[in-house]
Amino acid sequence: MATSSTPRRGTVRNGAGAPGSPTTAGTGAPGSPTAAGTGAPEAGAPGSGESTLARKRRARRINRALAEQYPYAHAELDFRNPFELLVATVLSAQTTDVTVNLITPLLFARYPDARAMAEADTAELEAIIKPTGFFRAKTKNLLALGNRLVDEFDGVVPGRLEDLVTLPGVGRKTANVVLGNAFGIPGITVDTHFGRLARRFGWTESDDPVRIESDVAELFEPRDWTMLSHRVVFHGRRVCHSRKPACGACAVANWCPSFGLGETDPAKAAKLLKYELAPGNEALLGRLLAETHRAAEIRMESQRRVP
Ligand code: SF4
Repeated sequence: MATSSTPRRGTVRNGAGAPGSPTTAGTGAPGSPTAAGTGAPEAGAPGSGESTLARKRRARRINRALAEQYPYAHAELDFRNPFELLVATVLSAQTTDVTVNLITPLLFARYPDARAMAEADTAELEAIIKPTGFFRAKTKNLLALGNRLVDEFDGVVPGRLEDLVTLPGVGRKTANVVLGNAFGIPGITVDTHFGRLARRFGWTESDDPVRIESDVAELFEPRDWTMLSHRVVFHGRRVCHSRKPACGACAVANWCPSFGLGETDPAKAAKLLKYELAPGNEALLGRLLAETHRAAEIRMESQRRVP
């Protein structure tokens, strides 16, 4: 996979010169000290001079390249129905999906639905979710969540954003994860990776998740929102890291105005790649592909159950 990640140099990117060219580097390109120091709009960002149509085309090209790179992108939390995904997403705050997946089999065996969760013993629930961190606050949220679902929604997770965000511990990010993956309703999930990459791609200038969501929504058809969210997060975790983006081994370098923010030498950049793209880790790919099929089956099964 690392080979296919190599930037296709020579392609004209966004009319701003080739990646790493003097033009790009010398004009306050995003991530350069000039751009960072002046607060100038990122190349391609709203207000940068790139037309909306050009930005839209570039954004969709990036999405296609990410789809080629990550055909196995999927929600990494395990779930079998909207309730499980809602609870798992609440638990995923400040921890990894892997940690959440370790404790949810026991959690859902003990509390399979909202009614059981509402009646959970506080100490017992705390003990089960402790590995996910902030377990006291999360326990309070889960108890309140279960009670609210029982009291207001007859124990059923609602399939509307405006209802979901009224639930304890549920913000727009969680609501969009649940809508997109458990209900099949398009949603853009803005987490820390998505926000960072959306800014680097020049899709937004904002740090505000709601604004990021609406800026990005303008660029894509709703049917693309959910998978786009997964792909961008996958790319953020594997390639476009917060501190050391692997620009020289990035599949979307040709369309990214922030190329050059990180390591551009292909060999050095390849060493920064993570998970299945990391040299020597190719075996992980088989597991991811298997998980993708399972995630798709779960998603379809979950959506079939939605009234
Ligand atoms: S790794 Fe570099 S080129 Fe790739 S998306 Fe991130 S900033 Fe852009």
